[in-house]
Amino acid sequence: MPTSTIFTLIKQLVTKKATNPFPVKYTPKNMHGAAKLIEDGKLEINPPVDVPENYRGKLTYDVDACIGCQLCLKVCPSEALVFKPETRKVKHYVARCTFCGQCVNICPKNCFELTGEFLIAGTDKYADDLVLNP
Ligand code: SF4
Ligand code: SF4
Repeated sequence: MPTSTIFTLIKQLVTKKATNPFPVKYTPKNMHGAAKLIEDGKLEINPPVDVPENYRGKLTYDVDACIGCQLCLKVCPSEALVFKPETRKVKHYVARCTFCGQCVNICPKNCFELTGEFLIAGTDKYADDLVLNP
């Protein structure tokens, strides 16, 4: 084994991990059982690690500040934004978003902000929390 590989392995053993098992400390055999234990106060939730600065998580959208210029729609690569002509505002589908930040950069009114929120998995991509300004 090359020296650089050995060095990297040793370094990884002593550096702080960037991830942790979530939501509980040890991977449970049965998630429903683990959820019940958490509910009963017999198992603690392992908090997720802090997100790094400038992390690109779920967007927020300031609907009041939006002037309906549609520049964000032009730069969005994944059709995550849809214009609503009746209100001249936009609708944002979180499930389609690639968190590229193009809309954040181009918006003249700073309507969008990428947050540290990353717990956005769900079974319904049209759920209330996955569509902004529905
Ligand atoms: S972050 Fe990127 S993919 Fe998501 S809505 Fe903005 S432009 Fe579209
Ligand atoms: S770029 Fe900003 S102001 Fe223009 S439509 Fe999009 S969110 Fe609204």
